[in-house]
Amino acid sequence: MTPLKWFYGFLKRYRNLMILGIFLTTLIAALSIVNPYLSGIIVDDVVQAGNYDLLPKLIACLLGVTLLNSVLRFLYQLVFETASQGTLYDMRSTVYRKLLEEDFDFYNKKRTGDLMSRQTGDMDAIRHFVAYDIYAVYQNVLLFAFALLMIFTVNTKLALCMLVVLPFTALATFKQSREVKPAFQRNRNCFSSLNAFVQENISGNRVVKAFAKEDYEKEKFQIENDRFKDSQIRGSKVWMKYVPIFEILSYALTVILMLYGGYMVIQEEITLGDLVKVNGYLWMLNMPLRMAGWWVNDIQNFITSVEKIYSTYSEEPRVRTPRFSWNHGDSFGYPHDKIRGDVEFKGVSYQADGEDIVRDISFRVKAGQTVGIIGSTGSGKSTLMNLLCRFYDTTSGQVLVDGTDVRQMDLYNLRDNIGMAMQDVFLFSDTIEGNIAYGRPDCSFDQVKQAAIMADANHFISALPEKYDTIVGERGVGLSGGQKQRISLARALLKDPSILILDDTTSAVDMETESYIQKQLKTIKQDCTVFIIAYRISSIKDADLILVMDGGRIIESGTHEELAAAGGYYARTFRSQYGEIPYDMIREHKGLA
Ligand code: ATP
Ligand code: MG
Repeated sequence: MTPLKWFYGFLKRYRNLMILGIFLTTLIAALSIVNPYLSGIIVDDVVQAGNYDLLPKLIACLLGVTLLNSVLRFLYQLVFETASQGTLYDMRSTVYRKLLEEDFDFYNKKRTGDLMSRQTGDMDAIRHFVAYDIYAVYQNVLLFAFALLMIFTVNTKLALCMLVVLPFTALATFKQSREVKPAFQRNRNCFSSLNAFVQENISGNRVVKAFAKEDYEKEKFQIENDRFKDSQIRGSKVWMKYVPIFEILSYALTVILMLYGGYMVIQEEITLGDLVKVNGYLWMLNMPLRMAGWWVNDIQNFITSVEKIYSTYSEEPRVRTPRFSWNHGDSFGYPHDKIRGDVEFKGVSYQADGEDIVRDISFRVKAGQTVGIIGSTGSGKSTLMNLLCRFYDTTSGQVLVDGTDVRQMDLYNLRDNIGMAMQDVFLFSDTIEGNIAYGRPDCSFDQVKQAAIMADANHFISALPEKYDTIVGERGVGLSGGQKQRISLARALLKDPSILILDDTTSAVDMETESYIQKQLKTIKQDCTVFIIAYRISSIKDADLILVMDGGRIIESGTHEELAAAGGYYARTFRSQYGEIPYDMIREHKGLA
């Protein structure tokens, strides 16, 4: 499918409105020939022939046509505006739905600002095309054709003479369109880049301030801003270069009419009324010639935008529900089937950009068991959980949930059964209640409160002036790191999941709070499989299975007692954290000291 065909798919839904709009536009173009025609009659029959009785009727006709014209203009603009807003509405929803379906890989590669530009600037270029350019181009082609036809009926030689300018206009339009397309593409890219820069800097503003890098960022912005300005100016110069050419060509018509038409009146080949008539049609010939350059710009702009949006839209997520298990499109919002929670990794390896991230991971846990994962930073702990949630697909090996390969499962169903408190806590700018209830918006307030109590969040939330109705800023601004973690934990717990993943969830809370949370976790349903990723031995020592990771591999596994006795990495970490050996020794062992 080509980008334009894809766009047509949206426009087609408003076919009836568009047909009505085109019909109204045709009517207006046809009406436009009436007034100059009547003016010619007034000059010939009323002024020159002295037939004054005709005047009131002709004036009434002129006024009637003008009035009708105005009403029709209002109507067709309404029609095109409705069609354009409708087309855009559908397009925005479709593109946004697709964005939601895209996988982690897609978002890793794309810049937020670029994606925002697709949904704003590019969409607006399309709206402008549907709301204005379609009818404007069509109407002006008609006006030009009608005007020419009327001039031919007045005098063939005069009409042919006026046609002389046409090949020049066509040539200028063609040349301009070839130059304008790359200029517009450059403009769009610079706009996207500027947008992405601003978006990143606003999000990362706290880091900028913390490092006192305002001047550095200002300079970087200056470069982006200059690039955008230069690109805009270069783009403008392309069409500005052609403006005088189009102007000259349109004035050439007036000159031809005055010289040749005037000569013909003197020679009595045409009447003075005919000259007035043709003069009245002149704007209809002029307008398309003058505007041709603008429309070429707009159309190129529109094509560039459709191509850009389509190229984002057409990227298919690699991680998706297999077709044979689709029972409801892409399964958003469908009631889920409860999974049991048995998890098995069978010889799992995962590579990104040709590099091994995790290798040969094999372990098995039954529903209801708790798994602790510990290991140095960057050892692949979060990656294991990403593979379990199928945020990425394994390069080799299988991740099985309840004995089924996750690649064969309904993606929505799998994830809906997993409660995850991510390492990088993200809160929406919403109330605390809204954030906790994110996974279960239909739950009662008591359930929200219960989840908050389990996550030890209730008492600090209750101390806030607006309690659960407190709006947290973007990404949870206004809350401490530990408070955000606890809200994120409550959000995961409220889902009542079959598999609960806590990725570094208690790293920012004090030991007392952590121990309280652990006690609460023990009270959650027996059949929930829990994965706890932590640096503190205290967080995981009661787990049924502890996996120790290093360099993407499991280097030790077993229970706390087994591992503590084995004398490996775990035992050293344990003794260091419990004050028996200095932490430096572990670093030495790992070659980090
Ligand atoms: P931490 O304890 O710091 O959270 P981790 O054990 O959770 O570390 P992972 O997040 O699993 O570590 O990352 C493991 C390695 O994989 C890191 O070296 C990281 O740079 C790399 N990595 C993670 N995700 C990707 C990705 N999408 N593309 C390329 N490399 C990745
Ligand atoms: Mg991690």
